[in-house]
Amino acid sequence: MAELILHPGKERSLFKRHPWIFDTSVAHLGGHARSGDTVTIQDDRGKPLAKAAFSPQSKIRARVWSFDVDTTIDHAFFKRRVAEAVARRRAFPELAGQAGLRLIHAESDGLPGVIADQYGDTVVVQLTSAGAEKWRSAIVDGLQKATGCARIYERSDSEVRGLEGLEPTTGWLLGEVPANEIVIEEHGVTMAVDIVAGHKTGFYLDQRDNRRLLAELSKGKRVLNCFCYTGGFSLQALAGGAASVLSIDSSQPALDRAAANLALNLRLKAAKAEWRCANVFDELRKLKAAGETFDLIVLDPPKFAPSASHAERASRAYKDINLLGFKLLAPGGFLMTYSCSGGIGVELFQKIVAGAACDAGRTARIVKRLQGAADHPVDLAFPEGEYLKGLLLQAD
Ligand code: SAH
Repeated sequence: MAELILHPGKERSLFKRHPWIFDTSVAHLGGHARSGDTVTIQDDRGKPLAKAAFSPQSKIRARVWSFDVDTTIDHAFFKRRVAEAVARRRAFPELAGQAGLRLIHAESDGLPGVIADQYGDTVVVQLTSAGAEKWRSAIVDGLQKATGCARIYERSDSEVRGLEGLEPTTGWLLGEVPANEIVIEEHGVTMAVDIVAGHKTGFYLDQRDNRRLLAELSKGKRVLNCFCYTGGFSLQALAGGAASVLSIDSSQPALDRAAANLALNLRLKAAKAEWRCANVFDELRKLKAAGETFDLIVLDPPKFAPSASHAERASRAYKDINLLGFKLLAPGGFLMTYSCSGGIGVELFQKIVAGAACDAGRTARIVKRLQGAADHPVDLAFPEGEYLKGLLLQAD
């Protein structure tokens, strides 16, 4: 096995059990290793510290599989890690019985570059790192054994694969194409999930708890759901008794899917829902100019800052939509606002939203801090795993 030898002092992050080794920390590679191969990480005096997956093209030159250098990284290792991740969800009562469930949350489950989401008896897997790519068959085998699922589909078409020198890969790894569309139930609402053409693995499971919270707040309210995708928040607002729900997204296929999802739920009143295909930044200005107001507004935009280097431009975009949100909010109304940008931390996000409230001339209070659901745990040693942060605000 090859060794990756660090510059003096660069072993410190490993002592804190952070799993990433950046190219700038590496002095040299001893021996020969190809993309995805397991290497031993050593400090500058040759002391072994961890076993990691080598990624020659990425700025993240290696990702740790184990801080125990005696661990053998083999097929059995991945089966074990996958089984442990699945067992962690089963041990958590609020997750038991969820038809849509994140089974593996990458670094936070000890499997850097591996995402796996279950939708009924189908599991969708996304491999985004050189190491995950190398161990595909072991990971897939582990998923099948741990869940007993009938089908596994690969959605390794995330842009981040390019940073690791990997081509996009999609397709069925186990089982047949399902005869019917895949549907899940979330807090009593039925949602179809397009695992082939939808975003990420098909659905935003991380917002599950927050959608229930929205339902609880919605009774009798005029709701505005910005960046609605396939209508997750919109349908929960209707289920919670909203007076009206206006949903905006720039993707017509997502809106078509949202309307189809509503049609799957016969008890919800379709007449109360309006789907609008538009750019949220423009549409909110139009709504403001038309003098519209709403009692409850959701802002759940896409990642404006995938990494810290995009933080400044992204901050302006967050400020802009939150400012417009406050301007459209009726007195006493609630704003549920999110950032899923890894490059924007909780504190910065709060600062941006505070600036927006101030510029809109509104006093607002944080009534709840919001985060991803329990099947998206965050390893304490890996704060980058906490990408989703939100605030529930009530404005005077
Ligand atoms: N809240 C959703 C997930 C939102 S994902 C849920 O709970 O399922 C972000 C969505 O924003 C995507 O559907 C994307 O099509 C849409 N989007 C991205 N940029 C946009 C823009 N400028 N205006 C309107 N929609 C946009």
